[in-house]
Amino acid sequence: MKAKYADVILPLPLYSTYTYSLPEEVSEGVATGSRVLVQFGRKKYYTGIVSRVHSEAPSYEVKPVSEVMDREPVVRPAQLKLWRWISEYYLCSEGEVMKAAIPTGLKPESETFVSLVDDFDVPEGFSISERQAVIMTLLQDKGRMRIRDIEAELGMANAARHIMPLLDAEIVAIDEKLVERYHARKESFVTLNARRGDKETLHRYFDMTARSDRQEKLLVTWLDMSGWLNPMRDASDVTKAALMKASGATPSILKALVDKGILTVERRVVNRFNHVVEEHPPLLAPLNEQQSRAYDATLDVLRGCRPALIHGITGSGKTEIYTHLMAASLRDANQALYLVPEISLTTQLADRLRKVFGNRLVVYHSKFSDSERVDIWKKLLNTREPLVVLGVRSSVFLPFSHLGLVIVDEEHESSYKQYDPAPRYNARDTAMVLAQMHGAKVVLGSATPSIETYFKALNGKYGLVELNERFSGTPLPDVNIIDMRRQRKEKKVKGILSLPLRTSIKEALAEGRQAIVFQNRRGFAPMVVCRQCGWTPKCENCDVSLVYHKKADVLRCHYCGYVCALPTLCPACGENAIATFGYGTERIAEEIQEEFPHHRIVRMDLDTTRNKDAYQEIIEQFADNETDILIGTQMISKGLDFGRVKEVGVANADTLLNFPDFRSNERAFNMLEQVAGRAGRREEKGRVDIQTSRPDDHVLRFVKAHDFKGFYNVEIEERRKYRYPPFTKVINIYIKHKDARSVDRIAREYTLELRRIFGNRVLGPEKPFVSRVALWYIQGIMLKIEANASMKKVKDILRDVYTRMAASPDMKGAQIYYDVDPV
Ligand code: ADP
Ligand code: ZN
Ligand code: ZN
Repeated sequence: MKAKYADVILPLPLYSTYTYSLPEEVSEGVATGSRVLVQFGRKKYYTGIVSRVHSEAPSYEVKPVSEVMDREPVVRPAQLKLWRWISEYYLCSEGEVMKAAIPTGLKPESETFVSLVDDFDVPEGFSISERQAVIMTLLQDKGRMRIRDIEAELGMANAARHIMPLLDAEIVAIDEKLVERYHARKESFVTLNARRGDKETLHRYFDMTARSDRQEKLLVTWLDMSGWLNPMRDASDVTKAALMKASGATPSILKALVDKGILTVERRVVNRFNHVVEEHPPLLAPLNEQQSRAYDATLDVLRGCRPALIHGITGSGKTEIYTHLMAASLRDANQALYLVPEISLTTQLADRLRKVFGNRLVVYHSKFSDSERVDIWKKLLNTREPLVVLGVRSSVFLPFSHLGLVIVDEEHESSYKQYDPAPRYNARDTAMVLAQMHGAKVVLGSATPSIETYFKALNGKYGLVELNERFSGTPLPDVNIIDMRRQRKEKKVKGILSLPLRTSIKEALAEGRQAIVFQNRRGFAPMVVCRQCGWTPKCENCDVSLVYHKKADVLRCHYCGYVCALPTLCPACGENAIATFGYGTERIAEEIQEEFPHHRIVRMDLDTTRNKDAYQEIIEQFADNETDILIGTQMISKGLDFGRVKEVGVANADTLLNFPDFRSNERAFNMLEQVAGRAGRREEKGRVDIQTSRPDDHVLRFVKAHDFKGFYNVEIEERRKYRYPPFTKVINIYIKHKDARSVDRIAREYTLELRRIFGNRVLGPEKPFVSRVALWYIQGIMLKIEANASMKKVKDILRDVYTRMAASPDMKGAQIYYDVDPV
């Protein structure tokens, strides 16, 4: 037999796959998509995915695959194709894509264990430090321990530093144990100890139970549930729980039958999501006239095999149209993927969609546990059942079998793009490629489409479908721009709240309706200053000021998480003159509570939603009118549908306007129009109050008029003039280094190299807005390529430059990466 080899994708930033040999005893079960355990380097084991099985011996000596982890592949070939596309388009490795794609529970990695060597001898001249002594005592107590558990137990950072000398001195030893993170769920099943059709044995069993009605009843119930006697039916598994419920038998009756050798109870691994799919048809709400027209227009576009863009104002009922489209996809026995930009949105939508699709709805996001995610993955892997998957970014990686429809809701959202780590992919664009691979239809939806998408729609690349009225018939809210400088001059501002905003909130509450206040900054005060000498606390690891969090009473870095205490005396001049300025959500919540002491106020931001169910609680309570005022960051701006909100306040629009970045206007317009869209969705008209010190800004003018097209027309001309997307393609190059001088030098060299090839299409190098994060100094280079150029060629060149530059000893210690289509 010919020797067999497997190319394996490893979870590492390597630009190629690695080849391993397949020993005869394992080669049988290995195919494309199989999970294998391989050795890489001297001691490390990784789980990899086989991308190809072949018999071409490589020129170098290969290691054998150590273990095949499953009998069936865990990844479909179509998924591997998508991984390859992502790695080529976004300039990263397939291993990095794999890391993002597969749930952690499917990727055991080696974890280092440490133990004391039996009868160790302390070598001559080796002195044991205090820390080392503590570690040794702990190991003596506990035996074998993971390094990270030692660190946790002793509250010690970097225990490895103290362990390494002990290792060299052969006082401790390490071994690598593979840890499977996935815990299967088991359930008890009851089986009959007779082959199907063996009537003789069955008669004997009836004789054996003839003297107990209740035993006989249990046996009959089992036969009934399993379909054992019905030759027209496939036999079904009978769970112990279901059998006991249906028969009303007690545990001792079951035990009697087991003791007699008639039934057997066994524990089996089950998939948490392997429920029986209900067969009721989707319960759809009838569409109104505007929606029906839009629905038909969308189907028309899709029939022509173009993606459709549904541009519908907030509250126009886009979600309902998507629901009808998905139902149609299920009717064709296809699967559908419904992407939303944030987990907070899946909560409300899941409730709404479950009512329609029952348990044909599958929800997928990162707040699920590892094991739950593995179960969803396996469920999709093993079924051809038509299903609707509702999820965030990472759901594009699920093992769909025959996708018929992809919906990308709020397609303009920047959270579809992953910033860090690689793969830096945009889930909207990736989903469109995924759809193409499956021959599936694509529907994009938004009240504020991205400039690029709208451009394509106007140019006929996408079909444009419009909804200009709200489902409720209520007009869009009145938008009131509040000039804060004038308000201050007139002494009408209390804390951060202007008189008009206070009045509007009061009116809404007096009518028994609700208010939302938006501030795009969490914490209490973003500025801490010594009034005496001007000192401000900076993060030790980043080039940013620390934000004061009052409840926790700490200063916190929003980039790296660094935390320290707020000093009472200024560390620079020693004066008792530390003051806090500016507003985060925490402070606004406090002020609003003071202003409205008898109303219930709730805050939704990263700080209040750390635990799993927090989103759901906050959203449900507000939806059920148990709270009156919701205060939050951009988390509350998107897609949420609350019926009783009359007032929406924007505490400070200035932080959104005028950023030094070509997308800042777009981002500001979208954010404000979307927050405004939360007001007056069902009952009467709502109202929006935007506080700003730049009342004449053109972005605000367009928000006031809810004029998306007007905004687009101005913005697209700017883009054309300054050669930004959609007229060019942008790729950013980031260089990071822990040494400030090195980062500058390397960035200059890299820029020169790129400029040699791409000329004046290269801009920079330039320090980004925050130029140091988590100890790394950063420099950015921007590459702007004409939209009609061959991107494939450009990317080949970029990969080549990277490989060449990265090999140079001058680049030591640097991290270099590309960010394709940054948002
Ligand atoms: P959008 O997604 O465009 O912002 P939604 O789909 O959330 O708008 O619709 C706004 C509101 O109108 C929701 O409360 C929704 O339940 C209601 N609605 C929309 N279409 C229908 C319909 N066909 N039947 C009943 N209610 C609908
Ligand atoms: Zn000072
Ligand atoms: Zn920091």
